Amino acid sequence: MTARLLIVGPQGSGKGTQGIRIAQAAGIPAISTGDMFRAAIAGGTDLGRQVTAIIEAGDLVPDELTSAVVRERLAQPDAADGFLLDGYPRNLGQVADLDEFLSGRGEQLDLVIELRVPREESISRLSLRAQEQGRTDDTEEVIANRLGIYERETAPILGVYGERGIAQAIDGIGSLDEVTDRIVAALQSRGLARPTAA
Ligand code: AMP
Repeated sequence: MTARLLIVGPQGSGKGTQGIRIAQAAGIPAISTGDMFRAAIAGGTDLGRQVTAIIEAGDLVPDELTSAVVRERLAQPDAADGFLLDGYPRNLGQVADLDEFLSGRGEQLDLVIELRVPREESISRLSLRAQEQGRTDDTEEVIANRLGIYERETAPILGVYGERGIAQAIDGIGSLDEVTDRIVAALQSRGLARPTAA
C-alpha cells in the first residue's frame, strides 16, 4: 500500500523507534536524516565532516545541505512507492523544499504523525538514552538546545500540515506497542494501512 508519511515529535518522543516499526509494517523505507548524518560522521565522509560540530551542538544542519541529502535519498528506487520521513522537514524552509521536490514528481505527503509527549517526559527519556547509548548530543545542555529548536522551528510546521488536513496528533505516552497501535489505527482510518484481521 502506498503511503508517504512524516513522523514529527520532540527528541525523546520515540519517533525513531515508532518510525521504524510503522515503516516495516507498511513495507516502505524509514528515512531518518539524523541517522543519515550519524552514518556520514561514522563513515568519515565529506558530509560527515561538514555536520559534526553542528550536530554536537544540537543545532540544525543548513536547509540547503539537508534538503539535498533527502532529495538524493528519495530518488532511490525503494522510495518510489512510499516512504516514512523521520526528522525532516524540521522547519518551514524544509517544508517548502520538500513540497517542491514532491510536487515535481506529482506526489504529496499523505499523513503527518505528530507524536506528543510532555517536555519533562522527553527530557527524562533522553537522559536515559544518554546513559545507554552515549550519544554526544544527549548532554543536558545540548538536549535543552534541541528541545528549544523543536518548539521554535519544528512545531510551526504542524500548523501548515494541519491546514492541509493531513496532520494527526498521537499520544506518545504508553508502551511501545500501545503507541504503535494508535498510529496504525490512524493510518487505517485514512485508508493508508490495511485493516487488522479481526
Ligand atoms: P535526530 O536524530 O533526528 O534528533 O537528529 C540529530 C541531529 O541531526 C539534529 O539535532 C540536527 O543537528 C541534525 N538534523 C537531523 N535532521 C535534521 C534536519 N531535518 N534539519 C537540520 N538538521 C537536522
